[in-house]
Amino acid sequence: MRIVDAHCDALTKLALNERLDFDREQEELDVCFPRLRQAGVKVQLFAMYVSESIRNSGFDHILHMIDVFNRKIGRHPQMQIIRTSEDWLKVEASSKIGAILTLEGLDALGGNLAYIRLLHELGVRAIGLTWNYANWAADGVMEPRNGGFTRKGRGMLKELESLGIIVDVSHLSVAAFWELTNVYPKPFIASHSNAQAHCAHPRNLSDDQIKAIITCKGMMGLTFVPYFVESGKEHVPISALLNHIDHVCALGGEKHIGFGSDFDGIEQWMVNLRHTGDYANIREALSKSYTETQVEAFLYGNWRRFMVANLPRCKNPDQSNFDMDTI
Ligand SMILES: [Zn+2]
Repeated sequence: MRIVDAHCDALTKLALNERLDFDREQEELDVCFPRLRQAGVKVQLFAMYVSESIRNSGFDHILHMIDVFNRKIGRHPQMQIIRTSEDWLKVEASSKIGAILTLEGLDALGGNLAYIRLLHELGVRAIGLTWNYANWAADGVMEPRNGGFTRKGRGMLKELESLGIIVDVSHLSVAAFWELTNVYPKPFIASHSNAQAHCAHPRNLSDDQIKAIITCKGMMGLTFVPYFVESGKEHVPISALLNHIDHVCALGGEKHIGFGSDFDGIEQWMVNLRHTGDYANIREALSKSYTETQVEAFLYGNWRRFMVANLPRCKNPDQSNFDMDTI
């Protein structure tokens, strides 16, 4: 059974440490080609996160990460970068693993919308608007004042909408989340967030927020960060993650659930979920509680439907072997 994972920080690690090898299993890297293959991951989204310590280097560091993405992941003979809906379908029909480039936090762009257009040209297909704190566009969820969007941030949303870059609300402040639902007409995602009803962390989503994602036909990637799954426990079992799935299903979100592990962005792991290769353990736990159709939808089908509908179409229809209207 195939898997889509909507968020990992492996690219961030690969860019900071040239010695890390994407093609080899090693302790420091949760997500690497052998483990993706072992787990049956068909498409992995790779986030570029600019850590606070190097944020001053700004756009240069983002360009560096894109270069690393192209060199270490894109050029791997069994990997294929996905930029369009057609690319997704081609990967699906092949034995290759798809890779989608995303950005976590607009901080390093300094309010320059030309950078957003360039990132789109360079293949960035989803953008998390903030990390935990305020930036030039909006407030993050840990910013005490809980502000919404700035004037520039609202202009940026228009640019994302016209380019067709997918908006990711994980880490976004509650005020900005609700402002977005009022002004943004397209479906959006939370690539790595869980349900507050089962774990009251600010990074998780309230029932009303989850319902808003369902209403806009968006997607929610449940995440394996142990303290976003169950609070106050050192050893968090996979069964605790299933409580979040049940809850989102009870809110009507069965078709809007997927996974966004946050592997390589975490320093604590759930029990039996140490790296991407352990997705087999999720699959096994899901199979005991849900039908085969549901398990397929949670692991692959829901993200696939969303992405094929919301990624840009190939500009030159002659290059496409697929009739998109029939999918
Ligand atoms: Zn994150």
